[in-house]
Amino acid sequence: MPASRLTALLCAAVLCGACARPAAEQPMTDSRYMLGTVCTITLLSGGNDAVLGAAFARLAEIEGRMSANKTGTMLEKVNEAAGKGPVAVSEDLYTVIERALAFAEASGGAFDPTVGPLVKLWEIGFDDAKVPSEAGIRNALTLLGRKDVVLDGKAKTVFLKRPGMRLDLGAIAKGYAGDEVVRILGEGKVGSAIVDLGGNIVTFGKKADGKPWRVGVQNPFDSRGDYIGILKVDGTMAVVTSGVYERFFEENGKRYHHILDTTTGRPVENGIVSVTIIAPSSFDADGLSTSVFALGLGKGFEFVARYPGMHAVIIDSNSRVYLTPGTSTVFQLVDTSFSIAE
Ligand code: ADP
Ligand code: MG
Repeated sequence: MPASRLTALLCAAVLCGACARPAAEQPMTDSRYMLGTVCTITLLSGGNDAVLGAAFARLAEIEGRMSANKTGTMLEKVNEAAGKGPVAVSEDLYTVIERALAFAEASGGAFDPTVGPLVKLWEIGFDDAKVPSEAGIRNALTLLGRKDVVLDGKAKTVFLKRPGMRLDLGAIAKGYAGDEVVRILGEGKVGSAIVDLGGNIVTFGKKADGKPWRVGVQNPFDSRGDYIGILKVDGTMAVVTSGVYERFFEENGKRYHHILDTTTGRPVENGIVSVTIIAPSSFDADGLSTSVFALGLGKGFEFVARYPGMHAVIIDSNSRVYLTPGTSTVFQLVDTSFSIAE
Protein backbone atom coordinates (compact mmCIF):
# COMPACT_ATOMS: atom_id res chain seq x y z
CA MET A 1 0.00 0.00 0.00
CA PRO A 2 1.41 3.41 -0.89
CA ALA A 3 2.40 5.58 2.06
CA SER A 4 -0.02 8.29 0.94
CA ARG A 5 -2.95 5.97 1.37
CA LEU A 6 -1.77 4.60 4.68
CA THR A 7 -1.36 8.08 6.14
CA ALA A 8 -4.76 9.16 4.95
CA LEU A 9 -6.34 6.10 6.44
CA LEU A 10 -4.66 6.26 9.78
CA CYS A 11 -5.75 9.83 10.10
CA ALA A 12 -9.44 9.40 9.43
CA ALA A 13 -10.65 11.41 12.33
CA VAL A 14 -13.30 10.77 14.85
CA LEU A 15 -12.70 13.58 17.26
CA CYS A 16 -12.81 11.59 20.37
CA GLY A 17 -11.84 14.07 23.07
CA ALA A 18 -15.11 13.80 24.90
CA CYS A 19 -15.99 10.20 24.36
CA ALA A 20 -14.28 8.49 27.30
CA ARG A 21 -15.81 5.44 28.91
CA PRO A 22 -16.41 5.44 32.66
CA ALA A 23 -13.19 4.57 34.52
CA ALA A 24 -14.30 0.99 34.98
CA GLU A 25 -14.95 0.62 31.29
CA GLN A 26 -11.86 1.39 29.24
CA PRO A 27 -12.25 1.56 25.45
CA MET A 28 -11.52 -1.75 23.79
CA THR A 29 -9.99 -1.42 20.37
CA ASP A 30 -8.55 -3.58 17.64
CA SER A 31 -7.08 -2.66 14.28
CA ARG A 32 -6.39 -4.95 11.35
CA TYR A 33 -5.41 -4.61 7.70
CA MET A 34 -8.45 -5.87 5.80
CA LEU A 35 -10.53 -5.01 2.76
CA GLY A 36 -7.45 -3.29 1.33
CA THR A 37 -7.28 -0.84 4.19
CA VAL A 38 -6.80 -0.35 7.93
CA CYS A 39 -9.96 -1.33 9.80
CA THR A 40 -10.34 -0.22 13.41
CA ILE A 41 -13.21 -0.97 15.74
CA THR A 42 -13.34 0.74 19.12
CA LEU A 43 -15.91 -0.32 21.70
CA LEU A 44 -16.62 2.51 24.13
CA SER A 45 -19.30 0.87 26.22
CA GLY A 46 -20.63 -2.67 26.40
CA GLY A 47 -19.40 -5.64 24.38
CA ASN A 48 -16.30 -7.75 24.91
CA ASP A 49 -13.44 -9.46 23.09
CA ALA A 50 -15.77 -12.01 21.57
CA VAL A 51 -17.86 -9.30 19.94
CA LEU A 52 -14.76 -7.60 18.53
CA GLY A 53 -13.55 -10.97 17.27
CA ALA A 54 -16.89 -11.72 15.64
CA ALA A 55 -16.87 -8.34 13.88
CA PHE A 56 -13.39 -8.92 12.44
CA ALA A 57 -14.29 -12.49 11.47
CA ARG A 58 -17.23 -11.11 9.51
CA LEU A 59 -14.96 -8.57 7.79
CA ALA A 60 -12.62 -11.41 6.81
CA GLU A 61 -15.57 -13.36 5.43
CA ILE A 62 -16.75 -10.37 3.39
CA GLU A 63 -13.23 -9.83 2.04
CA GLY A 64 -13.02 -13.50 1.03
CA ARG A 65 -16.21 -13.14 -0.93
CA MET A 66 -16.14 -9.62 -2.34
CA SER A 67 -12.53 -8.59 -2.94
CA ALA A 68 -11.50 -8.07 -6.54
CA ASN A 69 -7.84 -7.82 -5.57
CA LYS A 70 -7.37 -11.16 -3.89
CA THR A 71 -7.19 -14.49 -5.64
CA GLY A 72 -9.70 -17.20 -4.86
CA THR A 73 -12.53 -14.94 -3.76
CA MET A 74 -16.11 -15.69 -4.71
CA LEU A 75 -16.18 -12.51 -6.81
CA GLU A 76 -13.08 -13.68 -8.63
CA LYS A 77 -14.92 -16.90 -9.55
CA VAL A 78 -17.72 -14.81 -11.07
CA ASN A 79 -15.13 -12.79 -13.00
CA GLU A 80 -13.27 -15.89 -14.20
CA ALA A 81 -16.54 -17.31 -15.52
CA ALA A 82 -17.24 -14.21 -17.63
CA GLY A 83 -18.50 -15.29 -21.03
CA LYS A 84 -18.76 -18.88 -19.81
CA GLY A 85 -21.62 -19.31 -17.38
CA PRO A 86 -23.48 -18.28 -14.22
CA VAL A 87 -21.84 -18.74 -10.82
CA ALA A 88 -23.78 -19.41 -7.61
CA VAL A 89 -22.83 -16.86 -4.96
CA SER A 90 -23.56 -16.25 -1.28
CA GLU A 91 -26.63 -14.27 -0.29
CA ASP A 92 -24.49 -11.31 0.84
CA LEU A 93 -22.41 -11.09 -2.33
CA TYR A 94 -25.61 -11.29 -4.36
CA THR A 95 -27.10 -8.43 -2.31
CA VAL A 96 -24.04 -6.22 -2.83
CA ILE A 97 -23.91 -6.87 -6.59
CA GLU A 98 -27.63 -6.20 -6.89
CA ARG A 99 -27.34 -2.92 -4.99
CA ALA A 100 -24.26 -1.87 -6.96
CA LEU A 101 -26.19 -2.42 -10.18
CA ALA A 102 -29.09 -0.39 -8.79
CA PHE A 103 -26.69 2.51 -8.18
CA ALA A 104 -25.36 2.02 -11.70
CA GLU A 105 -28.88 2.30 -13.09
CA ALA A 106 -29.74 5.29 -10.90
CA SER A 107 -26.54 7.15 -11.82
CA GLY A 108 -26.86 6.39 -15.53
CA GLY A 109 -23.64 4.38 -15.38
CA ALA A 110 -21.42 7.04 -13.75
CA PHE A 111 -21.16 4.53 -10.91
CA ASP A 112 -20.69 1.10 -12.48
CA PRO A 113 -19.47 -2.12 -10.80
CA THR A 114 -18.51 -3.50 -14.23
CA VAL A 115 -15.65 -0.96 -14.16
CA GLY A 116 -13.33 -3.90 -13.25
CA PRO A 117 -11.34 -4.08 -16.53
CA LEU A 118 -10.48 -0.37 -16.20
CA VAL A 119 -9.56 -0.69 -12.52
CA LYS A 120 -7.23 -3.60 -13.36
CA LEU A 121 -5.71 -1.66 -16.25
CA TRP A 122 -4.90 1.43 -14.17
CA GLU A 123 -3.86 -0.50 -11.04
CA ILE A 124 -4.18 2.69 -9.01
CA GLY A 125 -3.17 2.02 -5.44
CA PHE A 126 -0.60 -0.56 -6.45
CA ASP A 127 3.14 0.05 -6.71
CA ASP A 128 3.38 -0.44 -10.48
CA ALA A 129 0.50 1.93 -11.39
CA LYS A 130 1.13 3.87 -14.61
CA VAL A 131 -0.92 5.64 -17.26
CA PRO A 132 -2.13 2.95 -19.67
CA SER A 133 -2.01 3.20 -23.45
CA GLU A 134 -4.90 4.77 -25.39
CA ALA A 135 -5.57 1.41 -27.02
CA GLY A 136 -5.64 -0.31 -23.64
CA ILE A 137 -8.18 2.18 -22.33
CA ARG A 138 -10.34 1.84 -25.45
CA ASN A 139 -10.30 -1.93 -25.18
CA ALA A 140 -11.15 -1.92 -21.44
CA LEU A 141 -14.06 0.46 -22.10
CA THR A 142 -15.64 -2.08 -24.46
CA LEU A 143 -15.74 -4.57 -21.57
CA LEU A 144 -17.94 -2.38 -19.35
CA GLY A 145 -21.69 -2.89 -19.38
CA ARG A 146 -24.13 -3.14 -16.52
CA LYS A 147 -26.79 -4.51 -18.90
CA ASP A 148 -24.61 -7.56 -19.53
CA VAL A 149 -24.73 -8.70 -15.93
CA VAL A 150 -27.41 -11.35 -15.55
CA LEU A 151 -28.76 -11.92 -12.05
CA ASP A 152 -30.96 -14.82 -11.08
CA GLY A 153 -32.58 -13.97 -7.75
CA LYS A 154 -33.98 -17.47 -7.19
CA ALA A 155 -30.84 -19.44 -7.92
CA LYS A 156 -28.64 -16.60 -6.56
CA THR A 157 -26.36 -16.73 -9.55
CA VAL A 158 -24.43 -14.02 -11.36
CA PHE A 159 -23.39 -14.23 -15.00
CA LEU A 160 -21.17 -11.79 -16.87
CA LYS A 161 -22.18 -12.31 -20.46
CA ARG A 162 -18.98 -11.34 -22.25
CA PRO A 163 -15.45 -12.75 -21.78
CA GLY A 164 -13.14 -10.21 -20.16
CA MET A 165 -15.87 -8.52 -18.14
CA ARG A 166 -15.01 -7.97 -14.46
CA LEU A 167 -16.99 -6.80 -11.47
CA ASP A 168 -15.26 -4.53 -8.95
CA LEU A 169 -17.07 -3.77 -5.70
CA GLY A 170 -14.39 -1.49 -4.26
CA ALA A 171 -16.82 1.42 -4.24
CA ILE A 172 -19.45 -0.27 -2.11
CA ALA A 173 -18.28 -3.46 -0.33
CA LYS A 174 -16.73 -1.55 2.58
CA GLY A 175 -20.03 0.23 3.02
CA TYR A 176 -21.86 -3.07 3.25
CA ALA A 177 -19.21 -4.30 5.69
CA GLY A 178 -19.84 -1.27 7.93
CA ASP A 179 -23.52 -2.13 8.22
CA GLU A 180 -22.63 -5.72 9.01
CA VAL A 181 -20.33 -4.62 11.84
CA VAL A 182 -23.17 -2.46 13.18
CA ARG A 183 -25.48 -5.48 13.16
CA ILE A 184 -22.92 -7.57 15.08
CA LEU A 185 -22.30 -4.82 17.64
CA GLY A 186 -26.05 -4.52 18.19
CA GLU A 187 -26.43 -8.26 18.68
CA GLY A 188 -23.44 -8.19 21.05
CA LYS A 189 -25.08 -5.64 23.34
CA VAL A 190 -22.51 -2.96 22.62
CA GLY A 191 -23.65 0.42 23.89
CA SER A 192 -21.47 2.73 21.85
CA ALA A 193 -18.60 2.28 19.42
CA ILE A 194 -16.69 3.76 16.52
CA VAL A 195 -16.12 1.71 13.40
CA ASP A 196 -13.47 3.00 11.01
CA LEU A 197 -13.01 1.01 7.83
CA GLY A 198 -10.28 2.99 6.11
CA GLY A 199 -11.97 6.33 6.54
CA ASN A 200 -15.49 4.96 6.18
CA ILE A 201 -16.68 5.89 9.65
CA VAL A 202 -19.73 4.56 11.42
CA THR A 203 -20.63 5.92 14.82
CA PHE A 204 -22.60 3.39 16.83
CA GLY A 205 -25.10 4.12 19.60
CA LYS A 206 -25.20 7.10 21.90
CA LYS A 207 -22.14 8.69 23.42
CA ALA A 208 -21.94 8.33 27.20
CA ASP A 209 -22.23 12.08 27.73
CA GLY A 210 -25.34 12.22 25.54
CA LYS A 211 -23.72 14.72 23.17
CA PRO A 212 -23.52 14.15 19.40
CA TRP A 213 -20.48 12.43 17.87
CA ARG A 214 -17.99 14.73 16.17
CA VAL A 215 -16.50 13.36 12.98
CA GLY A 216 -13.82 15.28 11.08
CA VAL A 217 -14.02 15.85 7.33
CA GLN A 218 -10.50 15.27 6.02
CA ASN A 219 -8.64 18.03 4.21
CA PRO A 220 -8.53 16.60 0.67
CA PHE A 221 -5.27 18.38 -0.16
CA ASP A 222 -3.42 17.09 2.84
CA SER A 223 -2.95 13.49 3.83
CA ARG A 224 -1.67 14.34 7.31
CA GLY A 225 -5.06 13.95 8.88
CA ASP A 226 -6.01 17.61 9.06
CA TYR A 227 -9.71 18.14 8.94
CA ILE A 228 -11.45 21.10 7.39
CA GLY A 229 -14.67 20.82 9.32
CA ILE A 230 -16.64 18.83 11.82
CA LEU A 231 -19.83 16.86 11.38
CA LYS A 232 -22.04 16.41 14.39
CA VAL A 233 -24.04 13.24 14.13
CA ASP A 234 -26.39 11.49 16.52
CA GLY A 235 -26.55 7.79 17.27
CA THR A 236 -25.68 5.22 14.64
CA MET A 237 -24.65 7.09 11.51
CA ALA A 238 -22.24 6.54 8.63
CA VAL A 239 -19.84 9.21 7.39
CA VAL A 240 -18.23 7.99 4.18
CA THR A 241 -15.82 9.91 1.98
CA SER A 242 -14.63 9.36 -1.57
CA GLY A 243 -11.60 11.53 -2.18
CA VAL A 244 -8.78 12.02 -4.67
CA TYR A 245 -6.31 11.56 -1.82
CA GLU A 246 -7.47 8.02 -0.99
CA ARG A 247 -5.60 6.20 -3.72
CA PHE A 248 -3.53 7.86 -6.41
CA PHE A 249 -0.22 7.95 -8.22
CA GLU A 250 1.69 10.69 -9.98
CA GLU A 251 3.28 10.63 -13.41
CA ASN A 252 4.98 13.61 -15.07
CA GLY A 253 3.65 15.88 -12.34
CA LYS A 254 0.03 14.91 -12.88
CA ARG A 255 -2.02 13.15 -10.26
CA TYR A 256 -4.21 10.19 -11.20
CA HIS A 257 -6.78 9.14 -8.61
CA HIS A 258 -8.91 6.03 -8.29
CA ILE A 259 -12.45 6.98 -9.28
CA LEU A 260 -12.76 6.32 -12.97
CA ASP A 261 -14.94 7.99 -15.55
CA THR A 262 -16.85 5.21 -17.29
CA THR A 263 -17.03 7.22 -20.52
CA THR A 264 -13.41 8.38 -20.88
CA GLY A 265 -11.80 5.45 -19.09
CA ARG A 266 -9.65 7.92 -17.11
CA PRO A 267 -9.84 9.30 -13.58
CA VAL A 268 -12.89 11.56 -13.19
CA GLU A 269 -11.95 15.20 -13.81
CA ASN A 270 -14.84 17.42 -12.82
CA GLY A 271 -13.28 19.72 -10.26
CA ILE A 272 -14.43 17.65 -7.28
CA VAL A 273 -11.76 16.55 -4.84
CA SER A 274 -13.91 14.88 -2.21
CA VAL A 275 -17.47 13.87 -1.43
CA THR A 276 -18.56 12.99 2.10
CA ILE A 277 -21.95 11.40 2.60
CA ILE A 278 -23.76 11.23 5.93
CA ALA A 279 -26.43 8.54 6.03
CA PRO A 280 -27.99 6.06 8.46
CA SER A 281 -26.59 3.16 6.40
CA SER A 282 -22.95 2.95 5.37
CA PHE A 283 -23.92 0.70 2.44
CA ASP A 284 -25.98 3.58 1.02
CA ALA A 285 -23.39 6.18 1.98
CA ASP A 286 -20.58 4.33 0.17
CA GLY A 287 -22.63 3.83 -2.99
CA LEU A 288 -23.65 7.46 -2.91
CA SER A 289 -20.18 8.89 -2.24
CA THR A 290 -18.69 7.31 -5.34
CA SER A 291 -21.80 8.03 -7.45
CA VAL A 292 -21.89 11.70 -6.51
CA PHE A 293 -18.15 12.04 -7.10
CA ALA A 294 -18.51 10.56 -10.57
CA LEU A 295 -21.65 12.55 -11.42
CA GLY A 296 -20.16 15.93 -10.56
CA LEU A 297 -21.56 18.84 -8.62
CA GLY A 298 -24.84 19.60 -10.39
CA LYS A 299 -26.05 16.08 -11.05
CA GLY A 300 -24.55 14.98 -7.73
CA PHE A 301 -26.74 17.44 -5.82
CA GLU A 302 -29.83 16.16 -7.66
CA PHE A 303 -28.77 12.61 -6.93
CA VAL A 304 -28.49 13.15 -3.16
CA ALA A 305 -31.93 14.79 -3.15
CA ARG A 306 -33.39 11.48 -4.31
CA TYR A 307 -32.25 9.81 -1.07
CA PRO A 308 -34.16 11.33 1.86
CA GLY A 309 -32.26 11.52 5.14
CA MET A 310 -28.84 11.70 3.48
CA HIS A 311 -26.49 14.66 3.45
CA ALA A 312 -23.43 15.53 1.39
CA VAL A 313 -20.37 17.72 1.84
CA ILE A 314 -18.67 18.22 -1.53
CA ILE A 315 -15.29 19.96 -1.86
CA ASP A 316 -13.93 21.29 -5.13
CA SER A 317 -10.39 22.01 -6.27
CA ASN A 318 -10.80 25.71 -5.36
CA SER A 319 -11.43 24.82 -1.68
CA ARG A 320 -15.10 25.62 -2.01
CA VAL A 321 -17.36 23.50 0.19
CA TYR A 322 -20.84 22.70 -1.09
CA LEU A 323 -23.48 21.50 1.36
CA THR A 324 -26.69 19.81 0.25
CA PRO A 325 -29.93 21.23 1.77
CA GLY A 326 -30.07 20.65 5.52
CA THR A 327 -26.37 19.81 5.84
CA SER A 328 -25.39 23.20 7.28
CA THR A 329 -27.15 22.21 10.53
CA VAL A 330 -24.69 19.33 11.09
CA PHE A 331 -21.49 20.70 9.50
CA GLN A 332 -19.16 23.27 11.00
CA LEU A 333 -16.25 24.64 8.95
CA VAL A 334 -13.07 25.03 11.00
CA ASP A 335 -10.38 25.61 8.37
CA THR A 336 -10.66 29.17 7.08
CA SER A 337 -8.67 28.46 3.93
CA PHE A 338 -11.87 26.76 2.78
CA SER A 339 -15.14 28.58 2.22
CA ILE A 340 -18.74 27.50 2.06
CA ALA A 341 -20.33 28.06 -1.33
CA GLU A 342 -23.78 29.66 -1.15
P1 ADP B 1 -12.46 4.09 -1.33
O1 ADP B 1 -12.05 2.79 -1.92
O2 ADP B 1 -11.32 5.02 -1.22
O3 ADP B 1 -13.26 3.97 -0.09
P2 ADP B 1 -14.72 4.68 -3.12
O4 ADP B 1 -15.82 4.16 -2.28
O5 ADP B 1 -14.99 5.97 -3.76
O6 ADP B 1 -13.36 4.87 -2.37
O7 ADP B 1 -14.46 3.61 -4.24
C1 ADP B 1 -13.44 3.73 -5.18
C2 ADP B 1 -13.19 2.36 -5.78
O8 ADP B 1 -14.32 1.98 -6.57
C3 ADP B 1 -12.02 2.30 -6.74
O9 ADP B 1 -10.82 1.98 -6.06
C4 ADP B 1 -12.44 1.19 -7.69
O10 ADP B 1 -12.20 -0.07 -7.13
C5 ADP B 1 -13.92 1.40 -7.80
N1 ADP B 1 -14.34 2.35 -8.85
C6 ADP B 1 -13.60 3.25 -9.56
N2 ADP B 1 -14.36 3.96 -10.40
C7 ADP B 1 -15.63 3.51 -10.24
C8 ADP B 1 -16.89 3.85 -10.85
N3 ADP B 1 -16.99 4.79 -11.77
N4 ADP B 1 -17.99 3.16 -10.45
C9 ADP B 1 -17.90 2.19 -9.50
N5 ADP B 1 -16.76 1.82 -8.91
C10 ADP B 1 -15.63 2.48 -9.25
MG1 MG C 1 -17.95 4.55 -2.29
